[in-house]
Amino acid sequence: MEIKKIGVVGAGTMGNGIAQVAAQIGCEVVMRDIEDKFVERGLKNIDRFLSKGVEKGKISEQDKSDILGRIKGTTDMADLKDVDYVIEAVIEDLDLKKQVFKELDELCRPEVILATNTSSMSITEIASATKRPDKVCGMHFFNPVPLMRLVEIIRGYATSDETISIATDLAKRMGKVTVEVKKDSPGFIVNRIMIPHMIEAIKIVEEGIASIEDVDIAVKNGLNYPMGPFELMDLTGIDIALFVTDYLYKELNKELKWAAPNLLKTMIRSGRLGRKTGAGWYDYGNK
Ligand code: NAD
Repeated sequence: MEIKKIGVVGAGTMGNGIAQVAAQIGCEVVMRDIEDKFVERGLKNIDRFLSKGVEKGKISEQDKSDILGRIKGTTDMADLKDVDYVIEAVIEDLDLKKQVFKELDELCRPEVILATNTSSMSITEIASATKRPDKVCGMHFFNPVPLMRLVEIIRGYATSDETISIATDLAKRMGKVTVEVKKDSPGFIVNRIMIPHMIEAIKIVEEGIASIEDVDIAVKNGLNYPMGPFELMDLTGIDIALFVTDYLYKELNKELKWAAPNLLKTMIRSGRLGRKTGAGWYDYGNK
């Protein structure tokens, strides 16, 4: 079956990026969030990103309006009724994701694949909310979606080979590099490697060994990473970092190495969630 129309659930950081790359390959997109203001914000982000592309001469004004014209924002889940494929990008909350998958399962045609962009959670458990676990997989994009090349394609316990193959082809059509995560395992590949890194960086600052700035400088220049761990957390959301850390701690048998440092929790309590709130480990002024 050809994928012509894609449903994206969630219009936040990841949802609007996914909607954009889907529209860029010529698909019709229905992007759903729970309130108009979130849908509007998502559409505005896409507009802003594409406008920069026009300024830089990467796309024409016509391309921009064609891409935007293919994306319909909505708060009504029923608008996803006739899509050929769904990618879910609501917040990282297992109960919410299961609720969304149950709704999608009841709404979408039985052959439609339901993919989740979860950063760490069990694909098998999300799939258990549906009657089509063979058609549920993880499709883990990275932030910012239009620029980051990797998509991890994750197999739940019952995911079929066909589902993996269709998800992989779709990600490739979007210009992405794919890897297959063969077993449903917390954090998949990238976060399983990245989270301990981040935890150690915070502990180094907590213990007064080095400043936030110097940890970032050290990692960029000593490991040749494009961003330091604090810059990266500010970009991806410090709240997301805590969600993922807590989940890995719980799922990986509460080994202490996965426990969230106190300073990470303090950041959330102070409302400094990263660039999206105008402040995180660094200050970004008014948003
Ligand atoms: P976000 O908070 O920016 O956006 C989530 C959106 O989901 C919000 O706009 C919220 O209103 C909406 N939402 C909540 N309930 C909904 C529902 N029932 N239906 C439709 N929309 C609903 O979060 P995000 O950073 O875009 O993360 C989304 C998912 O992607 C999470 O699972 C996260 O772990 C994962 N992820 C995030 C990143 C990242 O760097 N931020 C990277 C990879 C994966």
